[in-house]
Amino acid sequence: MPNITPAQVKSDYDVIVVGSGAAGGQTAYTLTMEGAKVLMLEAGRDYDPVQETPMFQTNGQAPLRAAGTPDKPFGFHDSTVDGGWQVPGEPYTSASDDPKRQFWWWRARMLGGRTNHWGRISLRNGPYDFKPRSRDGLGFDWPINYEDVAPYYDKVEMLIGVYGDNNGLENTPDSPAGVLQPPPALRAGERYTKHHARKLGIPVIPIHRAVLTQRLDPNVLPAKLHPGNAKAQRVLAQAMSERAACFWATNCGRGCAIRATYQSTTVHLPPALGTGNLDILSDAMGYRVLMNDAGKATGVSYIDRRDGREKEVRARVVVLAASSAESVRMLLNSKSARFPNGVANSSGLVGKYIMDTVGASLGGQIPALENLPLHNEDGAGGGHAYVPWWLYQEQLAGKLGFARGYHLEFMSGRQMPGAGTFSGLEWLGRGSYGKKFKEDARRYYGSFLGFAGRGEMIPNEDSFCDLDPVVKDKWGIPVLRFHWKWSEHETRQARHMQETAKALIEAMGGRVRQQPDADGADAIRPGGFIIHEVGGTIMGADAKKSVTNQWCQTWDVPNLFVTDGGPFVSNADKNPTLTIMALAWRAGDYIVDQLKKGNL
Ligand SMILES: Cc1cc2nc3c(=O)[nH]c(=O)nc-3n(C[C@H](O)[C@H](O)[C@H](O)COP(=O)(O)OP(=O)(O)OC[C@H]3O[C@@H](n4cnc5c(N)ncnc54)[C@H](O)[C@@H]3O)c2cc1C
Ligand code: SF4
Repeated sequence: MPNITPAQVKSDYDVIVVGSGAAGGQTAYTLTMEGAKVLMLEAGRDYDPVQETPMFQTNGQAPLRAAGTPDKPFGFHDSTVDGGWQVPGEPYTSASDDPKRQFWWWRARMLGGRTNHWGRISLRNGPYDFKPRSRDGLGFDWPINYEDVAPYYDKVEMLIGVYGDNNGLENTPDSPAGVLQPPPALRAGERYTKHHARKLGIPVIPIHRAVLTQRLDPNVLPAKLHPGNAKAQRVLAQAMSERAACFWATNCGRGCAIRATYQSTTVHLPPALGTGNLDILSDAMGYRVLMNDAGKATGVSYIDRRDGREKEVRARVVVLAASSAESVRMLLNSKSARFPNGVANSSGLVGKYIMDTVGASLGGQIPALENLPLHNEDGAGGGHAYVPWWLYQEQLAGKLGFARGYHLEFMSGRQMPGAGTFSGLEWLGRGSYGKKFKEDARRYYGSFLGFAGRGEMIPNEDSFCDLDPVVKDKWGIPVLRFHWKWSEHETRQARHMQETAKALIEAMGGRVRQQPDADGADAIRPGGFIIHEVGGTIMGADAKKSVTNQWCQTWDVPNLFVTDGGPFVSNADKNPTLTIMALAWRAGDYIVDQLKKGNL
């Protein structure tokens, strides 16, 4: 990417955007396409997936057959650079020694952030998801409705390209005709599950993922997305024509050199740069929001990671999009005599109500899928099907013992064998070696099915982050300290996920690998493990009870915005990134409008 150097930074930007992932990419895209001059700060290094993605390297060509290691948990080919749950020199701390009360914080220090290797599951929140408190009295309602966000879901889906279909299900919104890309065929295990799940009344439908199954139409979509804006249409048409359809070649986690997946680096940043309105400064670690005496933001100070020095950049508007917890960190670190508790924190709620997704899983083996004929099922990286939450009515009637739903993602198929693919066959027979082992491997390969539950967490008073009073990172910036607690709603839900997975496996005549945990507190994955952290700068209708308004604009500082997952008021079971992008686009439109009116 054509990044600038600190010496090339200009003095007259309309907006500084901190972060270049889903939120920063979308915000910068919206602003620059509408003519605003933007400087983007990115803490990580410059990164170009087209040049750097090893599309055709097999697992056998990698160390340890590409197995995961502590510094590469998702395997050798995962595209994350300088990131993971631990980033050298950039620690975070936990307020508790109890493993069940700790939070795992994933960061990707690279241009495009986590969008270079995320799972691409792109589900819309439904109408219930914006008003959860009205339904069950827990948590908070959003100050907006599904109808406020729906046009932005449409736009984001058309821009990034999302495959899937419409099923007319409760609180699982359909997209307008012509918006979604056709879904790929279900895999054998997914089809088999769908067939047997019917007996249990459980739906199995194509999942929605941000992967192109056909080329985007550069003659039609740009005009729909930017009506009346000839320049935006031109640069977007160019960027769209450079994206190819997926040819099911490799694992999307290593990124996609042909730009078939959504990554900020291949979808948002190229057209934004094409407008000539975007400058990107990477290796720039945002530290503090700079304020003037009138209480307005004037810019951002950052640590230049190349020389370790603190530098300043200025603009009329500042947007934090550094990922929800990191934006919290910047606000809390922006202390002054006027803002002793950090900027935009008059409510005292900066850092409060952080949420992750509830995660639990269970797998098994299906005899009917043994000895399948040879076939290629690599497909578009992850699953092609999922189970959307289906027990809304039972839950409303108080029959489940926990509030809020979950969906199940599939782990199935005959993808290229990696390290460990054929280990652990002993539980199916009595162990084998030599010829018998080969026969077992062929027999069982592709007959395993796993289900990963992904559920809604309700915000609670015990889950928040603040600044550690002692620990600083290698740049001398105070680090975050996490406080974490699952409530019984989440732990019971995790147990229910495992019970459902067991019921599905058994309905197929399969055997579960292990029984569901008796206690949901053992079933549930640690906080942060699912890497869907949101909250910390929640939005609301009341300045005393929230950090931002419905436009992601901080109540206290009108020209300071947060467009990552921080303003989320609830974290529906639907994976958050599509909603982050929809809200960022909505906030971007608002910023452009307010800039034109001279209000910022
Ligand atoms: C393995 C994996 C699978 C996932 N699967 C899914 C999925 O299927 N569906 C889904 O919806 N979500 C998924 N997610 C989550 C998804 O990646 C995030 O929700 C999304 O990327 C959040 O966007 P963001 O812009 O807030 O943060 P990021 O995409 O992380 O971008 C933040 C950027 O800001 C930069 N930054 C941070 N601090 C600073 C600073 N102080 N100054 C300057 N820059 C800074 C970072 O380096 C980074 O580039 C997954 C994540 C992972 C890791
Ligand atoms: S499976 Fe398709 S979308 Fe994923 S990396 Fe390979 S070509 Fe790209």
